[in-house]
Amino acid sequence: MKQIIVIGSSNTDMVVKAAKLPGPGETILGGTFLMNPGGKGANQAMAAQRLGESKVIFIAKIGSDVFGQEAIDGFKRAGMDTRFVLKDGTAPSGIALISVDEQGENAIMVAPGANANLSAVEVAVALDACPEAELVLLQLEIPLDTVERSVVACAQKGIRVILNPAPARNLSDEILKHLYLITPNETEAELLTGVTVTDLDSARRAARILHDEKGVGNVIITLGAKGAFFYNTSLELLVPAPAVAAVDTTAAGDVFNGALVVALSEAMPLPDALAFACQAAALSVTRLGAQSSIPSRAEVNAALG
Ligand code: ADP
Repeated sequence: MKQIIVIGSSNTDMVVKAAKLPGPGETILGGTFLMNPGGKGANQAMAAQRLGESKVIFIAKIGSDVFGQEAIDGFKRAGMDTRFVLKDGTAPSGIALISVDEQGENAIMVAPGANANLSAVEVAVALDACPEAELVLLQLEIPLDTVERSVVACAQKGIRVILNPAPARNLSDEILKHLYLITPNETEAELLTGVTVTDLDSARRAARILHDEKGVGNVIITLGAKGAFFYNTSLELLVPAPAVAAVDTTAAGDVFNGALVVALSEAMPLPDALAFACQAAALSVTRLGAQSSIPSRAEVNAALG
């Protein structure tokens, strides 16, 4: 079993559901309030922890406040290694203020807070303390400079890096050439390659740019309900998504990435790893929420048959 490290964001999602979204200067009464742990880093780390058998190390930054403490308590309850969930002395924990109307339409404001202060030096210190690490999973909700320098540091140590390039941001060729694997969705693949990804053919064209031209070792483009497309020098593969009644696709990509890193840590052959990740993500879209929608290993195994 290879040691998994997730480096990324932790947020608290504060959700108010009301009849309609407020316009400028408007107050809407009668909403209901929910508070959920979130952030792509935390969601992916929790998915890897729940689906795998080893202790996931999470490198992140939270504020010295009740939201950060709640987050750490949740990570510990799940069994994660929280030695490198750092506390910022001044910035608050990251939060997302989410308004949802009766039609399910939403409006979201994110205050990254302490996530924006996770530095490359802090990540480097944590990585040095984990010489057994073999797989690192990253996203783009922490400073780009931290992501870039961490990717290079991992490559120099021979650690395989999986980058989920979400939310969509432009990346330098210098980062891309050091990646073992990149996992954009359709929108992110378009931003990175200029190819509008809508089907297998366009996914192949985008994947070729990332692999053949930019030097990413392996490419997986997630295609929502259509599944996931894999591309490298020797293999090209479309894994269809299992047909499910989708209830809430929040964090489908996060569960996919968490499951994928678990499969790679267990040295599953790539087609099996993709099927495992697609099945875990498909189960998650049948449930409400982000971390609350992550299936157990037993559920994924049962669904795979
Ligand atoms: P993101 O959530 O990052 O936008 P996608 O929408 O591509 O990414 O979803 C990630 C993965 O989740 C897909 O590759 C697929 O395996 C799974 N998935 C997403 N939506 C569905 C769905 N409606 N039915 C089954 N699987 C889904």
